[in-house]
Amino acid sequence: MARIVKKFGGTSVGDMERMRRAALRVKRAHEAGDEVAVVVSAMAGETNRLIALCQEASPLHDAREYDTVVASGEQVSAGLFAILLQSMGVPARSWTGWQVPVRTSDRHGAALIEEIDTRRLEERLARREVPVMTGFQGVGPDRRVTTLGRGGSDTSAVALAAALHAERCDIYTDVDGVFTTDPRIVAKARKLERITYEEMLEMASLGAKVLQIRSVALAMTHGVRVQVRSSFNEVSGTLLVNEDEIVEQELVTGLAYSKADAVITLYGVPDRPGRAAAVFGPLAEAGIIVDMIVQSTTPADGHAEITFTVPAEELGRALDALEGAREKIGFARLESNSDVVKISVIGIGMRSHAGVANTMFATLAEKGVPILAISTSEIKVSVLIDAAYTELALRALHSAYGLDAA
Ligand code: ADP
Ligand code: ASP
Ligand code: MG
Repeated sequence: MARIVKKFGGTSVGDMERMRRAALRVKRAHEAGDEVAVVVSAMAGETNRLIALCQEASPLHDAREYDTVVASGEQVSAGLFAILLQSMGVPARSWTGWQVPVRTSDRHGAALIEEIDTRRLEERLARREVPVMTGFQGVGPDRRVTTLGRGGSDTSAVALAAALHAERCDIYTDVDGVFTTDPRIVAKARKLERITYEEMLEMASLGAKVLQIRSVALAMTHGVRVQVRSSFNEVSGTLLVNEDEIVEQELVTGLAYSKADAVITLYGVPDRPGRAAAVFGPLAEAGIIVDMIVQSTTPADGHAEITFTVPAEELGRALDALEGAREKIGFARLESNSDVVKISVIGIGMRSHAGVANTMFATLAEKGVPILAISTSEIKVSVLIDAAYTELALRALHSAYGLDAA
């Protein structure tokens, strides 16, 4: 007998038939003797619909009311899922975040889970009842409903698995597991049997939305065994593991892409000490996170060009902050573009091998793709390119690193 948390994403509960199939999976595990706790997302498309309603009511709406509205999608799924389980003879009950309770910080729309009080769920599990908890939400210090940010049901599931000391957390989704890159973009993407927590954290941070970033960070710190698998077949999924559990270390494990950044270039910046502080100080004061940075100086005229990226949704505020500091920085001209994509190669194998970045640059050069900015860390290399090249670049790099499925 094992204690397992099973999380079903939006597509897996997208209509009654799919939800019934998901419930059947739970029934089978329950009958085999497992203790199962379920976490559900809203039905596919529902959260987008609810967000659009808030926008329609008023573009500048109260974040607390936004949470009240968007959290309702998961409530519907949890109730229906419990009804389906009951109709199959499995004792079940739905639990919303505040009922459990899942206590969170007060950052509405992006709240952090602080504590899950599992006493009531433990009592029910002991009676062989299946708790069906709403993902994506909790209750804040002011006792109002909070939500965890898009994709947050993954985090609810991992946090619940940690709090219940579950043996495993199964994340059921619409693909067979974690792939070398998004299988919807690269047809030759391969499913990974295993991926390290660290690589998965980079993949998620760099745009692979198969797991929410925070769910991976939580799994890593609490040592939760996470398995990502399909709710539509019986194929074994991908297991998140520690580095020492990887038998054959590849140089590159996967590729990710993200269109969440915008690029800004300042031209004609006087080349003097303190220049970088003058540019990035006002952005830091505005709470805007700068990611990639490139500086180039023309020694002859004593001016520099500075290129950097900021989150696309912060572009307007970033431009305001820079215009406000124009005199202090002394730039001649400013250009910005949100039609860019950041493509990253990820792999713990690159810690001990040179040449990964070079393969990336050579492959893109061969395809005639100009690189606008570069950034690296111990286990990844990222380049910023024009968004029009996204698919071309991903496919070419996937082949170049030998990741293509046979
Ligand atoms: P769910 O609704 O089940 O939470 P999501 O849409 O949030 O599902 O995440 C699954 C999607 O993530 C897949 O349909 C796939 O397009 C996308 N994805 C992006 N990168 C990857 C990757 N490396 N491996 C698998 N899926 C990926
Ligand atoms: N329903 C929420 C969303 O669409 C949470 C989730 O699915 O994980 O973002
Ligand atoms: Mg998701």
